[in-house]
Amino acid sequence: MTAPEGGPAALRKAARRARRLDARDPLAPFPGRFAPVPDGRLLLDGASLGRLPAATPALLDRVVRDEWGSRFARAGTQWRDLPQRIGDRMAEAVLGARPGEVVAGDCTSVNLYKLTAAALEARPGRRTVVVDDDNSPTDRHVVAGVAAERERALRTVHTHPDTGLDMATLRSAVDEDTAVVVLPLVSPRSGALLDMAQVHEVVHAQGALVLWDLSHAVGAVDLQLAATGADMAVAATYKHLMAGPGCPALLYVRRDLQACAAQPVHGWYGHREPFAARPRYDPDPTIRRFLTGTPPALSLAAAEPALDLLAEAGMAAVRAKSLALTGFLTELAGAVLEPYGLRPAGPAAPERRGPHVTYRHPRAGKLVPALAAAELFVDHLPPDRVRLSPGPLSTRFADLVEAVGRFRDVLACFAPARPAAEPGGRAS
Ligand SMILES: *Cc1c(COP(=O)(O)O)cnc(C)c1O
Repeated sequence: MTAPEGGPAALRKAARRARRLDARDPLAPFPGRFAPVPDGRLLLDGASLGRLPAATPALLDRVVRDEWGSRFARAGTQWRDLPQRIGDRMAEAVLGARPGEVVAGDCTSVNLYKLTAAALEARPGRRTVVVDDDNSPTDRHVVAGVAAERERALRTVHTHPDTGLDMATLRSAVDEDTAVVVLPLVSPRSGALLDMAQVHEVVHAQGALVLWDLSHAVGAVDLQLAATGADMAVAATYKHLMAGPGCPALLYVRRDLQACAAQPVHGWYGHREPFAARPRYDPDPTIRRFLTGTPPALSLAAAEPALDLLAEAGMAAVRAKSLALTGFLTELAGAVLEPYGLRPAGPAAPERRGPHVTYRHPRAGKLVPALAAAELFVDHLPPDRVRLSPGPLSTRFADLVEAVGRFRDVLACFAPARPAAEPGGRAS
């Protein structure tokens, strides 16, 4: 019997290649700038919680003891400006947006609620909201809720579960009655990456707005919101942006849209004069109008160290590393894991990929805890997907070889390898 292709020889060869790739990686020092994890643990779940930068614990300690403990009390308002200060930092470091176009506050779902409603205000008279069927359930629930509350029609376009949204499908779903199209730039499931400029062209041609969910893109994809003329966006900050669990989400509105886009959750932080105790609500003319209440200053402070790392590396280099990592991983998984019944479930072309890759396995729900027991952490996307998301700044190519080796050992307990001589053989 022929040895399966994914045998130890393939892994040894990959390990040699990984050493060469790591040696000439311009971002090679960055994995050393994250807090260490327990010995032998491999984290490929950066799409659900980004790694902890080594600088974050000391920063938080300083913020709590020195700033909360003393200066906050005296300086009064400084911490209250964090939503804009951190927003401007994100705009510059990772979004390609201008100052005054981004704030950080609330969670992604709430920001999506605010901006879906704001988009309807900015496009009065248009009666349709377009979403796709591959976005995260929370986004679809929120948008459907806004549409129902405001008596707009909800049109759902079909996104291919593996290859992403097709532009012809989008084009046929948008017309002059469309107010806004809500889409994830990177599919949370397949990892398919849309061409932002192409989507803008299709949707703007009908006079509608695009509201992006950048949760699985920001911190890993080189975003250029200003240059591509993006209208509005939201994103979680605790994934590839590595701002920590529960860090407030970001919210972006292009400057010229801000004055005509009113959001519905009126609180004092969105008021023109928040501390003047005016009886009537008068929204601030700037991006501040999208805020509502007091910012969680400690969580927001934790966003800075990762932004420092991403700014230092540069987003073009981060994206290049991310593509190199997912390219190396898919090639190795193809040789070593697919013979054991793992099926690729994302776009084949590297440039159509975001920072994660997914695979199907009929027993994914059992496989993922078994991998965790082997100290390899990945995500299970029910029912049958496994998501692998190597953090571009924190992952070495050698880590991927180790991860694939461990993955193979676990898979080998689930199903016997298909002999290489019978490529059309057993399916799972
Ligand atoms: C991570 C993620 C969210 C998170 O929503 P929260 O309201 O911040 O919990 C929402 N939408 C998408 C597409 C995501 O990937």
